[in-house]
Amino acid sequence: MFNRSSLTEFLSEINGIPGLEILKRASEQKRYSRDFFDYSPILKEQLDSCRADCVVKPSSVEAVISIARLCRKHEIPLTLRGSGTGNYGQCVPLCGGVVMLMTALKSIRNFNITTGVVTVEAGCLLGDLNKYLLKKGRQLRLLPSTWQTASVAGFVAGGSGGIGSVRWGFLRDPGHLLGLEVITLEESPQKIQLEAKSSEALNHSYGTNGIITALTLSTCPAVDWQEISLDCKELGSAIELLKSCTKAAVNLFLCSFLEKKIVESMPNWSGEAKGKHRLLLLVDPDGLSTIEKLAIEFGADFFHLGSEHENIGNGLRELTWNHTTLHMRAIDSEWTYLQMLLPQPEINLIENLNRKWGENLLWHLEAVRQYGVQRIAALPLVKWQGRHKLDELMNDCNEAGAIMFNPHVITVEDGGLGVIDSDQVEAKKKFDPKGILNPGKLRGWTSTKS
Ligand SMILES: Cc1cc2nc3c(=O)[nH]c(=O)nc-3n(C[C@H](O)[C@H](O)[C@H](O)COP(=O)(O)OP(=O)(O)OC[C@H]3O[C@@H](n4cnc5c(N)ncnc54)[C@H](O)[C@@H]3O)c2cc1C
Repeated sequence: MFNRSSLTEFLSEINGIPGLEILKRASEQKRYSRDFFDYSPILKEQLDSCRADCVVKPSSVEAVISIARLCRKHEIPLTLRGSGTGNYGQCVPLCGGVVMLMTALKSIRNFNITTGVVTVEAGCLLGDLNKYLLKKGRQLRLLPSTWQTASVAGFVAGGSGGIGSVRWGFLRDPGHLLGLEVITLEESPQKIQLEAKSSEALNHSYGTNGIITALTLSTCPAVDWQEISLDCKELGSAIELLKSCTKAAVNLFLCSFLEKKIVESMPNWSGEAKGKHRLLLLVDPDGLSTIEKLAIEFGADFFHLGSEHENIGNGLRELTWNHTTLHMRAIDSEWTYLQMLLPQPEINLIENLNRKWGENLLWHLEAVRQYGVQRIAALPLVKWQGRHKLDELMNDCNEAGAIMFNPHVITVEDGGLGVIDSDQVEAKKKFDPKGILNPGKLRGWTSTKS
């Protein structure tokens, strides 16, 4: 806990910093202390009452440096916030202090027409960046399903993958993040440039080891993605069809599976529910005929819904990844979820768990590439029956060979593979030696202090 009298001094010193907005209303302090953690009843209980003492919004890198210097001087916790769409309370200030909104830093600084590499400020929205890139014949490789509202730095610091993961894997795979501009929390904060290798320690570290002010990212050539839905009667053949689509010589940007009970609860943007399981795909135009042939082979109904550009806002993207969970929760907030990578053959785990958990467990799958290999990730919907039952289900998944990414915990490590990444901790020792940034979220750091 920080010293309250130092907060008073801090508040008087931030007045008059050029390019800094101070949001003083209690309603703003409440609003900017939350994200989408209420997907988890466990996190909701844990995080609901956390509040910032002060919310600031810098519109220049210099103003960011001034806040870093004053937070360091008065040893006041500093938590960074992009658009606040995280699901694990990543930007919730556990210990109060200052929340810094990064969304006014949003310029696109540089675009290389030959390589497609782009340098952009932290708070630029992914949707705005993608729109800019499309005009240049490029697009982002990876996007969360919140791609219209989430910020670039928030995605890199708090997200993992999403639309595009079927082709491009995950954000931490080498080749996506090529460099960072970072403000440190040293006694005299510095602005430093990190190349790809040293940027990795700040990738998915919840803003605990440096303030990102700009990012350099790879992009890929733009494609006129075609929306496809495939309806299948049998669960097993739907999963085999999904796998066949990812193995075919077809350029895919999305390949998702929704169990028929989920399809019934989705908005009808992929067509009316027809009592069947559904695959949702984004396909390069030259792959349409191949997907149609595969659908016929598996006895599935093939629907070409048209070019994605015509449906922006109500597209298939917004029915997948964590938007599937969002739509289910809009109908019944007792739904929560899990995240895991399935062992092969996936159907064994699914059928075994279905026998025990019945309709309290509904399957939502996403085809992904992991270390260059096609795999299936699952974000199943789980009916909340209390913490004990959730632990029992996670245990069943573990025993069946799934690799779990627990979405009901607040630390970087516990939401990942459970292991401490020493590079992340070393970067924190170097760039934030007093532990000012987002305290309580990096277990590898907290454990060295207790
Ligand atoms: C409906 C829904 C769907 C989603 N789908 C996906 C998905 O497909 N894939 C996925 O990975 N996630 C998904 N998410 C989670 C979330 O949208 C993503 O992680 C998103 O990219 C977060 O961006 P943001 O700007 O909202 O970040 P925030 O939530 O504001 O912040 C995320 C983390 O980044 C840190 N941070 C923010 N700015 C900076 C900065 N400048 N420097 C350092 N650290 C910073 C914050 O402190 C926090 O720890 C989804 C969430 C919802 C609610």
